[in-house]
Amino acid sequence: MFKNQIMNKFVFLSVLLVIAVLVFLPSVQAQMPSLAILIVIDGWRADYIEYLEEDSTFKKLAEDGAYGVGSVTFVSSTSSAHGSIFTGVYPDRHGITGKRYVDDFDDGLQRFDGLSFVQSPTLLDIASDRGEKTAFVSGKSGIGHRIWTDIRVTYDNYPDSLEEYLPELPPMTLRSDDFVKYYNLHDNWIFAGLKEVITRKGATSIFVNIAGPDVIGHAYGPYADETKESVLNFDRDLADFVQFLKDEDLYDETLLVITADHGMSYVDKPLLINDILIDEGYEMREDFLCAMDGNAAYLWFRHEITEELLSFLENIEGVEQVLTQEDMHELRLLHERSPDVILIAEERYMFQAAPLLVELGYTRGSHGSLRDEDMLVPILFHGPNVPTTTIKESVVVDIVPSILFLRAWSEVFTLDFDGIVLPELYK
Ligand SMILES: [Zn+2]
Repeated sequence: MFKNQIMNKFVFLSVLLVIAVLVFLPSVQAQMPSLAILIVIDGWRADYIEYLEEDSTFKKLAEDGAYGVGSVTFVSSTSSAHGSIFTGVYPDRHGITGKRYVDDFDDGLQRFDGLSFVQSPTLLDIASDRGEKTAFVSGKSGIGHRIWTDIRVTYDNYPDSLEEYLPELPPMTLRSDDFVKYYNLHDNWIFAGLKEVITRKGATSIFVNIAGPDVIGHAYGPYADETKESVLNFDRDLADFVQFLKDEDLYDETLLVITADHGMSYVDKPLLINDILIDEGYEMREDFLCAMDGNAAYLWFRHEITEELLSFLENIEGVEQVLTQEDMHELRLLHERSPDVILIAEERYMFQAAPLLVELGYTRGSHGSLRDEDMLVPILFHGPNVPTTTIKESVVVDIVPSILFLRAWSEVFTLDFDGIVLPELYK
């Protein structure tokens, strides 16, 4: 995970890649993928595959294509990891460092709201420069609004011309006994949107975010029947989508890539970090700012970080680790937007502003730590040129360079990614 190892691996594999491309690519020019779809299943931890039957579509694609368990970049949360997946670089370069950031302490916490926050080109930018029609079909509207694309489909923003072809949207609310059903229906709606941007809009490079497993996993936790059902619901959608590709004669020319932005861990103990700091004599907004992001909390302090403060933070019940900016540098997360300190919660603890969400059982799942249940995700490639193989080791930043390689796009050499082309794809 650390920088020198990453660099050595990068240099070594770059040399291998040049050799592989020279040997391998000319023979496959005839069967390049004309359609590339990158699906991020929000909050699908790597072992959710065990919820699926042997004949599930996800498992069939995994067995037929290249599949392995990989790692997201830290912090294991939605915004930052999506940035890494879509750009092929770590958060210290793409700039989405977490859920919130602070520029001027007096202005308080800011949102990453707008297209300019992602500071590296995404795969859709690269595809657009090549003249491809791009689309982003996203169950999470916030991420959708942060990524440039030709066509955007989220529940609150989609082209008028698609209105009559899309199923009616279920209400998007967590305050309903039917919300599991609604979120599964919402995932079905996202797949309907995906089909429409292909057939009616001619999109050829597409990002998809599937929100159900995350939203339902947060509410019920990773081991609940409701969460399993959202995983099965995704697999039914995937089966239906594969059939759609076959019916449209697109299956043999589609590169399908499936991953996730983070996992999910079980939580049942609130960690009220604001209250703890206030009890210690720190004033909120005056002395400190805190952005809570599940199992991680980002802290900015107006004054210098002393040894005494660090030691106090380390000794808080429920805090597993205190990451300084030096640690963030090692983890490739350090950016001018980074906090002074990141706290990681112990297992079962989750940072909260008020105890109710956890104590009343509204929240049983969370993510954001460095532990496997939050960091490990599936990485699956399927389509023309993809060998049947097991991917042994990967990080989500490897996805974009690997897609460029599989499409034989020369930008894999000219753009400076942190990720590599996965060696299993050209062995
Ligand atoms: Zn997420």
